[in-house]
Amino acid sequence: MKMELVIATTNFHKILELKAMIRSHFKDIEVLSLKDFPQYEAPEEIGDSFSQIAENKAKHAAKVLGLYTLADDSGLVVPALNGEPGIFSRRYAGDKATDKENRDKLVENLKKLKDDDRFAFFECALSFGSPDHVVKTIRGICEGHLLLEGRGRGGFGYDPLFIKHDYNKTFAELEEDIKNRISHRRKAFDKLIPYIESELLKVIST
Ligand code: IMP
Repeated sequence: MKMELVIATTNFHKILELKAMIRSHFKDIEVLSLKDFPQYEAPEEIGDSFSQIAENKAKHAAKVLGLYTLADDSGLVVPALNGEPGIFSRRYAGDKATDKENRDKLVENLKKLKDDDRFAFFECALSFGSPDHVVKTIRGICEGHLLLEGRGRGGFGYDPLFIKHDYNKTFAELEEDIKNRISHRRKAFDKLIPYIESELLKVIST
């Protein structure tokens, strides 16, 4: 028997990145996303950390759908801006803000800082939920610095502004599979693999 695992988001880019990671590692998992459940109503984002929010998303979806779930809550943290945009990354410039509007607001704030204060990190909390409500949540971070002008057409969100330490291309300039090998999301996913694996063993042996 195969495990059905629902990526608990409708964010196209998160689905793409997580699907690629799951598929490259697990052959016996059928990967779904909330796009396959158009009736599903996502809960309000509750919590004041990426981990709490991811955990709530995973728990809620697992309970409502009765399936294994993988929820992602993530964002960009700039310590010199008191952690902004942080958990508000998606709506930094307003509830319905586009990625570009969020980046523009960030750049305006970055301009007030000294050049070497543009250190930042992406954080991703991934939460793996099971139909019997057990949840494991793990964080991954990816450190780098920010540019004042975006570069590259790939990725999403703040990718055009972000350069990981020891790289000279932004996340939006890197090939998709390279970002997927080094990102905050990948780091969290790698740490979650043993937990998914042990549930998968239970499912395929039934
Ligand atoms: P969430 O949907 O509340 O988790 O917010 C995610 C937001 O964080 C996205 O809309 C982006 O603005 C930002 N973000 C998260 N991960 C990434 C990434 O890998 N690249 C660029 N921006 C990201």
